[in-house]
Amino acid sequence: MASRKDTILKAAKRTAKQAHAAASKRGHKSKTRVNIEPHRHCSVCWKPISLESDPAICGDDGCSSMYERREKSRKRFTFLMYFGILIFVGLLAFQVIMGASG
Ligand SMILES: [Zn+2]
Repeated sequence: MASRKDTILKAAKRTAKQAHAAASKRGHKSKTRVNIEPHRHCSVCWKPISLESDPAICGDDGCSSMYERREKSRKRFTFLMYFGILIFVGLLAFQVIMGASG
């Protein structure tokens, strides 16, 4: 004699199995991917450009000026970051020296 709970459990298990089978079937299908040539994208407008382009931007005027602006702000950020670390390390060393002597 099977209780109502058992029946529901069995049904759920069966459904899960079916869902799993369907999922694995779908996964198999998606493996057939379209072969795309290696390329990179313009870092501003994401247009596909040739792999050799350096800097990674297309020939657009807006893109090159935007890229320049970004590079400048990136360099400034990097500089500030290193500067901050330097100050932090300097203060730390200062404290250690003071602690050792005092
Ligand atoms: Zn672009």
